[in-house]
Amino acid sequence: MTRVLVVEDDPQLVRALVINLQARKYGVDAAPDGATALRLAAARQPDVVMLDLGLPDMDGADVIKALRGWTRVPILVLSARQGSDEKVAALDAGADDYITKPFSMDELLARLRAAVRRTEDAPLVPETVLVETADFSIDLLAKKVVRGGRDVRLTPTEWHLLEILVTNPGRLITQKHLLQEVWGATQSNKTNYLRVYMAQLRRKLENDPAHPRYLITEPGMGYRYEG
Ligand code: CA
Repeated sequence: MTRVLVVEDDPQLVRALVINLQARKYGVDAAPDGATALRLAAARQPDVVMLDLGLPDMDGADVIKALRGWTRVPILVLSARQGSDEKVAALDAGADDYITKPFSMDELLARLRAAVRRTEDAPLVPETVLVETADFSIDLLAKKVVRGGRDVRLTPTEWHLLEILVTNPGRLITQKHLLQEVWGATQSNKTNYLRVYMAQLRRKLENDPAHPRYLITEPGMGYRYEG
């Protein structure tokens, strides 16, 4: 089954897309914002991403850049923006195709089929799901971390935190977001959990955990992964 990740904050459009895609036997995940999109892209490994450029939490072009840090998944941009600047920026950031709203469902489906066909026609190059740094490498598919030639054992919680951070390189991820993603919304005041787990991750990954090079704290705000 071809899996499509729909990234769109307009619930009516999401509903229309989900109904139409499911009717044609696509598997569909939907994300209402960029942060959810990046998390779902890593977790669900979609075959195609349909991406609205105007999202509530981040610019669509930044979502594209973040995805392109680790995946070659075809990205079909949906945008109400008519300007060619945005179109060029989206394509430069690594989008594969662009469709301007309002569009007909038939045209969208044709573009989607073309995007899938292009990847099927492409030579079998392994998907890049590796995050490589000078000190460690992370295989997002195999959920494996290697440092100094040895496997690093991470707990599921540590892995979940690390995955969110490294799939958003350079971006501040708020404490609240991490707590909600990893521990559920009811735990969103427990910032001490985060400190403990981030300290563990640094001990496992950083050469100098007291002066982290990769897992950066933004005091009072959250954390950021620097690749
Ligand atoms: Ca929008």
